Amino acid sequence: MKKDEIYELTIEDIGNDGEGIGHVELPGAERGFAIFVKDAVVGDVVRVKIIKAKKNYAYGRLTEVISPSKFRVEPICPNARRCGGCAIMQMSYEKQKEYKWNKVKDCLERIGGIADAGSLMEPVIGMETPYYYRNKMQFPVGLDRDGNIRIGFYAGRTHSIIDLEECFIGHPVNTAIVKHMRRWLQERQSSNGNYIYNENTGKGLVRHILTRVGYTTGELMVCIVINGDSLCGNDRKNSQLYNDSLVECLKRAVEEYNASGKAIRISLASVSININRDNTNRILGDRCVTIYGQDYITDYIGDNAFHISPLSFYQVNPIQTRVLYDKALEYAGLKGDETVWDMYCGIGTISLSLAKAAKKVYGVEIVPQAIEDAKKNARLNGIKNAEFYLGKAEEIVPAYMKGELDTDEPANDTLGKTPDVVVVDPPRKGCDPVLLDTIEHMAPERLVYVSCDPATLARDIKIMTGKGYVLQKVAVVDQFCHSTHVETVCLLNIPK
Ligand code: SAH
Repeated sequence: MKKDEIYELTIEDIGNDGEGIGHVELPGAERGFAIFVKDAVVGDVVRVKIIKAKKNYAYGRLTEVISPSKFRVEPICPNARRCGGCAIMQMSYEKQKEYKWNKVKDCLERIGGIADAGSLMEPVIGMETPYYYRNKMQFPVGLDRDGNIRIGFYAGRTHSIIDLEECFIGHPVNTAIVKHMRRWLQERQSSNGNYIYNENTGKGLVRHILTRVGYTTGELMVCIVINGDSLCGNDRKNSQLYNDSLVECLKRAVEEYNASGKAIRISLASVSININRDNTNRILGDRCVTIYGQDYITDYIGDNAFHISPLSFYQVNPIQTRVLYDKALEYAGLKGDETVWDMYCGIGTISLSLAKAAKKVYGVEIVPQAIEDAKKNARLNGIKNAEFYLGKAEEIVPAYMKGELDTDEPANDTLGKTPDVVVVDPPRKGCDPVLLDTIEHMAPERLVYVSCDPATLARDIKIMTGKGYVLQKVAVVDQFCHSTHVETVCLLNIPK
């Protein structure tokens, strides 16, 4: 098989990144030669042009859908195919959910060594309306060849920016923000000439626009990521003018949105700049300066209120977060007298929902600002039985177990004792092996594993089943509709 050759094939399977997989007969290839086709749906008959050929497989570019699959739908977003965000928007939502459920099942069986994992899995929990659900957006800013501002999304696997009018998975207020910010940035670029950051040269100022909306409160946070320490760039004496004019621009955007009479009114609650001078792919730098309103916005999950800073991790889909945490709480099986550890606790969202049902909850988290927020959030909700520690879970927890950690409670009766439940919610890379050893040593009766990556989840489950834990139940919650990402909650226990 060679580059630029044209083939016709039927898509039979879905790959890890949501791409279609089909086979063509080639002399010498016994079971057919596999071709991976982005944007193709299981059941499609397609024509593809080979873009890269390897020894045993190839990548093809979809040039024509000859006969569409019954699972194929017209994406609501005109940019779906070019944008790197929604990789499977052309797949019906029912099929997306099935694909995610199967992805988890496959990982648990293949990587986790769990026989017939499907029998432990609950039906996938999807959204009733899988649109406009994201509370956080990060828009890259750049210039095209003609010097026009581009604000939008990176095209799949590249850093070229697609200009965006509307994102169908983000909060609709973003449409107005992007529109007004485009004009504001264009004016500054025209007078300053070096206002927009250029990734290739590392020069210029404005890099990203980050927004967050508290869906229950309507509070809006906007954070402008800049390669510098002030929005005025080199125009030193006018710093305040720049800040005021940005806030005015954002207020106009919010007013325009509110005038359209949407259900929850949006209020501009926090505007900040984030300083990122590094020429890297990391979006946010470590330091934020608030230029208007508060340093945070407030949002509710169930009865608990949370303060969220620009740098803190906060689940992006508020409706499904509630579902996810309720599932974690159900699996934790609390009666009221338990001691619980919440590892990788972020701003304490899971910890505080557990605290209301347990005797004592300990949270551990590596980001200082998140731990500060977690402590404040506990106070905000009048929760006194939650304690938070800053550091790596794999270092803090072993130290705590050995009694080598300072705690707020000198007469702590749980020090070094066995907790009843441990909850882990690690980032994509999964749990550190040292932490898993420590959990084995802590020997909680129940372990609730919340995961955003089924492959590392399955790897860790294999380790824990090797230590005597048994996988009891699995729930797949669709937090990231139209992307290939999956969120899973698992209950493991030590059989009595
Ligand atoms: N449970 C929280 C956060 C989950 S995201 C929620 O649902 O909102 C994972 C969190 O783990 C992030 O906040 C990240 O900062 C934190 N983290 C990453 N590595 C860590 C480590 N080694 N020890 C403790 N926390 C860590």
